[in-house]
This record gives sequence, C-alpha cells and structure tokens, in this order.
Amino acid sequence: MHEWALAQSVIDATIKIVKEEGITSPRRVTVGIGELQDIDLDIFKKAIDDIKKTTSLKEVEFVYKTNPAVLKCNNCGHEWMYHDSVKELSEEERENIHFIPEIVHIYVRCPVCGSSDFEMKNGRGVFIERIE
Ligand SMILES: [Zn+2]
Repeated sequence: MHEWALAQSVIDATIKIVKEEGITSPRRVTVGIGELQDIDLDIFKKAIDDIKKTTSLKEVEFVYKTNPAVLKCNNCGHEWMYHDSVKELSEEERENIHFIPEIVHIYVRCPVCGSSDFEMKNGRGVFIERIE
C-alpha cells in the first residue's frame, strides 16, 4: 500500500510548496514519476484524488508524467536511454530490473566502452515537477 503513503507525501509537499511560494490559487500540479519507480499508477491516482478532497487542494488537477531513466557511464561519461538498453532483453529480465533496479548492472553495459560502472538518473522516485 505504499501508493497511499506516496500520495500523502506528494499532497503534503504540494501544500508546503504552495504555502512557501505564496501561490494563491494553484490549478495544476505536475507529478513526475520515474520509469522504474515500483508503483501502481491507478492506485496512486485514486489515492491522490481521495486525499486531496480533504485538503486545500481539492480543486487542483493533478497530472502525471513518466520520466525516462537515463544511464550515465562513470568510465567514459556517455549517457544513454535505459529503454534503448533493455529492448533486447527478455520480458523476464526486464521484469527483474523493474523490481530490483540495481541488477541492471548484470544485464547492461555501456554501449561505447563496455563498462558496467554506470549510474542511473531520473529512473526512480516521485517528484513534484511543477505547480501552476
Ligand atoms: Zn562508457
């Protein structure tokens, strides 16, 4: 049920930002979700809708955006898209990475230098990207 905990923290953080930045009538909040974030989006959206009703954000529309994961090689500095690397993998391998993103290092190599020493950017986490 971590979707509900996540939704609660997104609502709390939005209220805090709105207050701190003195936004008088927020209309729309864009929530960015990492491609590899383990989350059920339908449950998360429903949780947001239910929780916001009890807050000052009840009139605010929440929109959701998936942030693609980017891999950056620590050896040569090359950056590439995670989904380019995994399209040759089997369904099962992709699922493994989805559940345990750290094991991406077993399956993926830097396409330029072949190193397995790379980091993942943007693939995880839930962020408030924009409040309008
Ligand atoms: Zn490299």
